[in-house]
Amino acid sequence: MNINKKTHQKFIFLGVAFLLGTLSIIAFRFITYRSTDVHYHANFALYINGRRDELKSFTFYEEVSACTVHDSNNPKIRVHMHDQNNGLVHVHAEGATWGYFFANLGYTLGDKLIGTDSVFDKVENKGYTIYADGKDGKQLSFILNGKKISNIANVVIRSEDRLLIDYGKTSQEKLDQLFATVPTDAHKANTERDPASCGGGHQATFLERLKKSIYH
Ligand SMILES: [Zn+2]
Ligand SMILES: [Zn+2]
Repeated sequence: MNINKKTHQKFIFLGVAFLLGTLSIIAFRFITYRSTDVHYHANFALYINGRRDELKSFTFYEEVSACTVHDSNNPKIRVHMHDQNNGLVHVHAEGATWGYFFANLGYTLGDKLIGTDSVFDKVENKGYTIYADGKDGKQLSFILNGKKISNIANVVIRSEDRLLIDYGKTSQEKLDQLFATVPTDAHKANTERDPASCGGGHQATFLERLKKSIYH
């Protein structure tokens, strides 16, 4: 065996060792793969003076591309709505609050006031309006998962939360009735692949997992 052949064998050995090392790292990542993409859903309804804000304008809804572009400079990507579904919130970032969501709609949400863009009063044809708690004996109420709470803006949206925001002279009985109208489709959106919007809570396919294991 001459020196050249020995060196050659050494290189082959190193090459194989490197390849095995790389493959085992990919295999490890593949086996331990956990999706890091945050994507879950919650439900809400907003009533002003007994009328639900239908959020009809297309400007309240994001294109599907908004959920896949990882652009941290665009806060709208973190939490938004799709497909003209006016009661379903899509959360794409850990720690997104209800205040954040309403800010993305162009609304103002505080503990004592809500500012909305919808035209509720066709006679006066008001645009952006602030509704303040206590004005004309009207109250701003927040009911989260059936429980009355005093503030919501800084509360982090959790998966399958149901939120009612109501402004008006509303009895407790009526509040309970309104809370019952808050949609419940967040669970469905979490568990089923949502063809029209951002993919629901679908499991990564074999290829998606492999790709992510290689490119990390
Ligand atoms: Zn989305
Ligand atoms: Zn979604």
